[in-house]
Amino acid sequence: MVSNPFFPISIKATFWVAFLPGSTFFFSLREKMMAWEASNQEIVGLLSSERHFEIAAPEGMIDMWAPPRLTFTRPFIESATPELLDSFSRRFFSITQYFPEVRGKIRVGMTNSYKGLAMTESDGNTMLKKISFPPLRRAGLPSRYVMGHELMHIVQAKQKFIPGTERACDLFTLSRLPPKHLDHPPIYLRMPRSVRSNWSRERIRPIVADMAHDVAIEAVISRKSNRRYINWWENEFRERVESSSSLSRFL
Ligand SMILES: [Zn+2]
Repeated sequence: MVSNPFFPISIKATFWVAFLPGSTFFFSLREKMMAWEASNQEIVGLLSSERHFEIAAPEGMIDMWAPPRLTFTRPFIESATPELLDSFSRRFFSITQYFPEVRGKIRVGMTNSYKGLAMTESDGNTMLKKISFPPLRRAGLPSRYVMGHELMHIVQAKQKFIPGTERACDLFTLSRLPPKHLDHPPIYLRMPRSVRSNWSRERIRPIVADMAHDVAIEAVISRKSNRRYINWWENEFRERVESSSSLSRFL
């Protein structure tokens, strides 16, 4: 009998399917939290001149980061060359450090339908984590942003204080990744169409990535007193884009 390790006797499972525009095929049977005994389970944040992850991560977690161990499914390996797998692993590790809650083994699989897909399964003690990406030879390396977005879904499954929605996932991913890693616009957050379609332009991306990141950190900080902090991000980001003289030349 074939048994899929990700569908054993299921106690509680959560998974997300990401990035099919127009489709938020998203469901969650809320997952029992794997206990994370951090003394401070709230995001602490202050805007810093470095605009770096240290300000958006739960206190004390940075020092505890240990690189996760990757295992690949056979289809994923077969979808790649050894060089591509190597580049994938290096890029993935460079992003995992911003999600220190994600520890231990991560299974990497293949999907033909989505830009990324994250799934977790927990029996209360152990959490199985699987992230899937399109075949590397056909689609190339996933963007750093998509990698971060999928890792953020695993954090959502582990951290009760982060809402489990796609828009929250985008927002927290923006707050955690430094702007240099924001190589793809957030998918579910609303933003001016001109920004989305021009995100990858060399003159645009550094400016909008900086703005998106800064506003995301402010939104995360404000969430205790502002329940509509995601809407706030959308409005504030749009206003900053519209009033930016350096962007008005290009957009
Ligand atoms: Zn997602």
